[in-house]
Amino acid sequence: MPELPEVETFRRYLDSTSLKQRITNVEVKDSYVLKRISARELTRRLKGRRFEKSHRHGKHLFVRASDELWLRLHFGMTGSLEYLKDEEVAPRTARVIFRFANSCRLAFEDQRKFGEIELVDDVGDFLQTRGLGPDALEIGLSQFQAIVGKHHGAVKAILLNQQLIAGIGNLYADEILFRARMHPATDAARVSDKDLKRLFRATHYVLEKAITLKTDFNRLPKSWLLTHRGKPGRCPRCGRGLKSATIGGRTSWFCAHCQKRI
Ligand SMILES: [Zn+2]
Repeated sequence: MPELPEVETFRRYLDSTSLKQRITNVEVKDSYVLKRISARELTRRLKGRRFEKSHRHGKHLFVRASDELWLRLHFGMTGSLEYLKDEEVAPRTARVIFRFANSCRLAFEDQRKFGEIELVDDVGDFLQTRGLGPDALEIGLSQFQAIVGKHHGAVKAILLNQQLIAGIGNLYADEILFRARMHPATDAARVSDKDLKRLFRATHYVLEKAITLKTDFNRLPKSWLLTHRGKPGRCPRCGRGLKSATIGGRTSWFCAHCQKRI
């Protein structure tokens, strides 16, 4: 499932391929993806415009097409973007295709159909209406400490709660907790400020490193949990078998030896 690093990678890809070109058509192949707008209306409003700039908040990507006109993309479980040149054939899972004047196209792909596309007038209003928390990479240490340290419940569930902090999903939450040597079921309200600082640093390190590597799992450091996650994975730090448990409603992988419950 695309989390903050994947969506940031899509944002950079879109910036490097699709900005400033006139949109000549929008082809909707499968309308489940459209939220609160029809295919005809989406095409009508975007045709003749250009994507001017992009903005990411948590797992949402916003692309500005003019004043008070932003395209919002959410990648659901399997969404991604692909820029197609000339006659390159669009993938079977392309759900919406934006065609540009230079005859290239940007395809929104989504195999499992949990993706979302809509138009919004104002990004700030959208975030407020959804009640999304601050972006996980924009948030400062004191704000992070205030949010995480003031909530009772498994620290992993707090990290996953998009209303508190936006952008972290199941896989990177496990990695962040592994790096911070914190058991995912630790009660967040019992974590000291010093340990919250460690968690904050781990959050930044993991998300930024994943972005730098363009979220290519084959290039992730072998010292990361993610490359060993699943059966019969062993902890890259101590070599003991990794454990899994359902925490915060999701399957969590961790090392019971290296990650102590506080
Ligand atoms: Zn270990």
